This record gives sequence, C-alpha cells and structure tokens, in this order.
Amino acid sequence: MIPYGRQDISEADIDAVVTVLRSDFLTQGSQVPAFEAAVAAYCGTEFAVACNSATSALHIACLALDLGPGDLLWTVPNTFLATANCARYCGAEVDFVDIDFETRNLSVECLEAKLRHAKQAGRLPKIVIPVDFAGQSCDMQAIKALSQTYGFKVIEDASHAVGGRYQGRPVGCGEWADITIFSFHPVKIVTTGEGGMALTKNPELAQRLVQYRSHGIDRHAPADVFDSQGQWGYQMMELGWNYRLTDIQAALGVSQMTRLDQFVDQRSVLAARYDAQLAALPLTLPKHESNVASAWHLYVIGWDESASGLSRAEAFRRLRAAGIGVNVHYIPVYWQPYYRQLGFAPGYCPNAERYYAGAISIPMYASLSLEQQDRVIRTLQELCQA
Ligand SMILES: *Cc1c(COP(=O)(O)O)cnc(C)c1O
Repeated sequence: MIPYGRQDISEADIDAVVTVLRSDFLTQGSQVPAFEAAVAAYCGTEFAVACNSATSALHIACLALDLGPGDLLWTVPNTFLATANCARYCGAEVDFVDIDFETRNLSVECLEAKLRHAKQAGRLPKIVIPVDFAGQSCDMQAIKALSQTYGFKVIEDASHAVGGRYQGRPVGCGEWADITIFSFHPVKIVTTGEGGMALTKNPELAQRLVQYRSHGIDRHAPADVFDSQGQWGYQMMELGWNYRLTDIQAALGVSQMTRLDQFVDQRSVLAARYDAQLAALPLTLPKHESNVASAWHLYVIGWDESASGLSRAEAFRRLRAAGIGVNVHYIPVYWQPYYRQLGFAPGYCPNAERYYAGAISIPMYASLSLEQQDRVIRTLQELCQA
C-alpha cells in the first residue's frame, strides 16, 4: 500500500538520535534549545517553544493568551480535532467559521460577517485560529486586520505548513499571528515522532509558554516568597503541565530541519505533476494562491460523483483496493458526537460540508517516487473512465 503520507528518515537522522542516547541527557539537554533555535531562525522569528505535540502547543498558546471559562474561541470545521479541543481544555466555548470552497481555508468573508453579528450580540471571540490547510497559508494579512478591528488574538495553526511561505515570508515569521503552531507528527513535513512548537515574536508570551510547558515553574522569577531558597530553588507561579519534548526527539528535529527545504521542493515537484496529469479528469484540484507557496502537506482532490458515476465512498474503496492509501481530511469537527452534544448540527458550515463530501487525500510525501506517483495517477484515470 502506498500511504497518503509518511516520514523520510536518513542515516544522519538516526545518527543524531543515537548520539543523544549515548549522552548524559535524554531530556532537557542541548538538543531542545538547538531545535527551537533552528526553527526560529528558519522562520525569522524571535521565540520558539518546543512541546511534546502540536495539541499541547495549542493548549498552552490558548492559556498564554488568557483563554478561560466564559471566553469564546473560533476556528474552522475543516481541521483536526485538536484545533477546537484546545479551547475546551481551557473551559472556553468553541464556534466555527466556514471555509472558502476553493482555498479550503478560513473564509475571510464568512469571518467578517460573523464578527459583525457577534459584535452586535456582544459576544466576540477572544481568539481565532485559522488553519493553513494542506500547507497553504490563510490570508493572514486580512485576518490580522480584522483582529485589530474586533480585538481578538490570532493563533495560526500551521501544523501543515512548516516550510511554506506567505507574501514571500516563511510561515511562522510572526508578522500576522500572535502565536504560530507547528506539528512534527510523522505524516507532517518534518518529524520528531511526536512533537510540536509554538512560535512568537512577543517575549512575554514566550515566557508564559515556557512556564505552562513545565508545571508553571519560573526559574528566573525573583524569589520574593522564599528568600531563603538556595541554588535548588524553583517557584511555581501558576498551574502548568509537563508538555516538554525530549532531547531524543529534538535531535531528530534538528537533523530533519536541515532537509526542510528539500522536503518542500520534492513535495512541490509532486504537486506540479499531479496538477498537470490530473487536469483533464473531472476532479477539483487544489487552488494556487499567487502570494502563497504551499508546503504541500496534503494533496486533496475533490471527487465529482456526477461526472464519474462513482460515489466518493466507492472511489475511496477502489483506490484502497488498488493499494493506494488514500485518506480524508477532514470530517467537519462539529459533526463529532462530542460537538453535537454541545449543540452543533450538520448544515452549520455549508462550504466545509460540500468540500468534505468530495475530499480524497491522495499520496503526498517527500520520498514518494515518480513511479509510485504514476501508479496513483493511472489508477485515478482508470477510475474516472469507469
Ligand atoms: C496534526 C495536527 C494537529 C495536532 O498535531 P499533534 O502534533 O499530533 O498534536 C493540530 N492541528 C492540525 C491542523 C493538524 O494537522
């Protein structure tokens, strides 16, 4: 089975991990700061806080922006569950903004209309989380402008988009979002096994992220409560978690970062080949925005049942039967039983639902060979002609 996504691990990656295993520190040694510095430098931002997943990075990003009970967080339904769940961890409420059918990203028009209503109703969100779906940046400049008009904070969920660019600058540069989140799960662009990162230009936010990552402890706070503490001293300032990444994982991340541009180049070549070879088929292909360079985490085709005579489910089944490991990103988050219990019902975000009805993610990863990709393309051609 050709999977829809997978990691690319080199001998240098393996050596980097083994070096840590032979060293004195498996966690909290030199590799986590080195990984954070590598990602911050790549993105051209000030601070990067590594976490044991993007999910935990999203959680502490919400906490650092003071999200709590009574507050409201908005995100899109076309995302992984964690983007919405992070608000629930903080006791806040979630609401969903529809996507644009073509870009598959947050619709700035829908956001603006919803903000206008929310302002009249006196129920504006504290945080909005746009998601750079499939690796393509959202229209961050427009979202930032709305954040200034309506007074919300922006967490950019760029779990798909490390290595991507917007207006010529790296995703994560901090120009448009208060905090940007990356994921290093093995299907993403670079991996640490499990892992995530929160990036920001704001030193106070960075300090709070570091504190929440490790039990709420601040090692640099003035010891005004415990003046008698010696060198062993530490102070817990607020309730935090253990969301730390290990040095074993971070060493893999440092090594992977040296190949990030190569990974994105390889993915871009594959995307261009899909674009060209699938253009004649009755499929909806990803839209390219002129000011965006996608990191190509996913390549999602829109299946057209009326043109092919096959339902999406049947096409999916036949692709899997042919050894093509397709997947679907994403079931609208509010369709989940947990969110339905909170009052959401199908029909809430029509664009996201229409997109979802045809979505099939076909194989896309740096080490996908051209021969393997040709097999995917041939199988799709046969299915569309059937
Ligand atoms: C993968 C992913 C996450 C969660 O990442 P983890 O590192 O697995 O916690 C969050 N948001 C989006 C959009 C993702 O794709």
